[in-house]
Amino acid sequence: MRTVYVNGVFCPETEAVVSIFDRGFLFADGVYEVTGVLDGKLIDFSGHMARLRRSLAELELREPAQEDKLLSIHRQLVEKNDLVEGMIYMQVTRGAADRDFLFPADDTKPSLVLFTQSASLRDKPAAKTGLRVVTVPDLRWARRDIKTVQLLYPSMAKMEAKRRGVDDAWMVEDGCVTEGSSNNAYIVDAGGTLITRPLNHAILHGITRKAVLRLAAESGLAVEERPFTVEEAKVAREAFITSASSFVLPVVEIDGTTIGDGRPGEIATRLREIYIDEALKTAV
Ligand code: PLP
Repeated sequence: MRTVYVNGVFCPETEAVVSIFDRGFLFADGVYEVTGVLDGKLIDFSGHMARLRRSLAELELREPAQEDKLLSIHRQLVEKNDLVEGMIYMQVTRGAADRDFLFPADDTKPSLVLFTQSASLRDKPAAKTGLRVVTVPDLRWARRDIKTVQLLYPSMAKMEAKRRGVDDAWMVEDGCVTEGSSNNAYIVDAGGTLITRPLNHAILHGITRKAVLRLAAESGLAVEERPFTVEEAKVAREAFITSASSFVLPVVEIDGTTIGDGRPGEIATRLREIYIDEALKTAV
C-alpha cells in the first residue's frame, strides 16, 4: 500500500482524509502538478514548481508551502514508496470552507495532497509502435494555461478515443489542433520543420514542451511555434506528443489517416532519446 501525504501528514493511502467541503471537490477549485521520476529522481522539479506558482497566482490561490519544503515532501514520498520510476502528483486546492461561490477568507488553509504512481516511463511500447489518435472538438474552458483539476473534458475525450479503438484524442478549435487530451501536440512538416502551437491561454504550457523545444533547437532543428490544422497534421512527415509521463511519443495515425510511413518518425524517436538522456542528467 502506498504512503501518501495529506495536509502535513504522511499516512497509508486508505487513511488519508480530505473534507467533503474541500473546494477542490465542490468547485474544482484547485491546481496540480505531475513530476516524472526516473531512477528515484525528480525530472525538471523547478520547472514544475514555477508553473505551480503561476497557476496559483492566476487563481489568487495561496502557496501551500515553499519550494524547498515541497521538494522535501516529494523526496520523502519517493523514499517511503521505494519509487524508482513513475510520477508524483501534487494537488493544491483552496481548502475547506462553507459552500459559497465567493472565495473564502484569506486565512483559509489550502489543501495539499501528494501521492506517487509507479509506472514504466522509459520503456513504453508506444515509443516503438506509435500512438493512434482521433480528433475531438476542444470543449474546455478558455484558461487552459492554468493547470486546474478540471479534468472532466479530457477524461471524456479519452473515453471517446477508447470507444473509437485508438490511444488518445487531439483537441481541435477553429480547425487547428490545440493539444492532446493530456499532452502537447507537434508535427514535423515535409521540410523537417517542427511545428507546435504557441503559448497563450489556449494550451497548457508544458514543462516537457519547454525542454523538448530547447533540445530540438540545440540539435539544429528548425522550430516554428504556430497553430497547425488537422489537414496539415494528416500530411505531415511526423507527429508526436510530449508530457511529463510520456516524455516524447510518436503519433502514427490521425483520424484513420496514416502519418508518414506509419512508423514512429526519426525526429520524434531522436528527441525522445535526447530528452531521456537530459532528464537523467539533470534530475534531482
Ligand atoms: N497539455 C495538457 C492538457 C496536459 O494535461 C499536459 C500534462 O498533463 C500537458 C499538456 C503536458 O505538460 P507537461 O509536459 O508539463 O506534463
